[in-house]
Amino acid sequence: MNKDLLLSNLRNIPDFPIPGIQFKDVTSLFKNPACMQELDKALYEKYKDCGITKIVGIESRGFVMASALAVKLNAGFVPIRKPGKLPAETISESYGKEYGRDTIEIHKDAIDENDIVLIHDDLLATGGTMLAAYNLVKKLNPKKVMINFIIELEGLKGRSIFPAEAEVDSLLILEGK
Ligand code: AMP
Repeated sequence: MNKDLLLSNLRNIPDFPIPGIQFKDVTSLFKNPACMQELDKALYEKYKDCGITKIVGIESRGFVMASALAVKLNAGFVPIRKPGKLPAETISESYGKEYGRDTIEIHKDAIDENDIVLIHDDLLATGGTMLAAYNLVKKLNPKKVMINFIIELEGLKGRSIFPAEAEVDSLLILEGK
């Protein structure tokens, strides 16, 4: 994977959405065709032999590469969304994040016990969002659940809150917070 290409195109926005947050703006990668190709290729190489049947994307920046990878792996795409957005029966989970508190939902029939699931989001900060997503997906009893991020902020130690069986992986690990 061409890390330099990705890192040189990743925009950092200081103090967004609140003072003290260094916001990693992945839209600066998504708008760049070479970066999209690189992300797509790296994810495919990592997950092509894992037997994945469903890729869960977390609203909204997680939708982008989750759907691209789902097409490549011939897997289904499943959205995790903010409350009130999904039209059919849902289950939900509340969690704390780097800034504020939130709730996420998934359709109850989106995953079943035959599925091997990869959950994808753009960035791992404290891990609260992904842990809630992991707990939601586990309630639907799939065979296996794996976790992937484009970027991990290593300084926040979010990775440590997941069980080892979750096989957490990130394409880019950044040292700071
Ligand atoms: P957390 O639950 O703390 O791991 O936060 C992860 C979620 O919040 C992801 O959906 C990210 O998109 C967003 N997020 C948190 N911190 C940042 C940051 N510094 N830069 C970009 N996105 C962030």
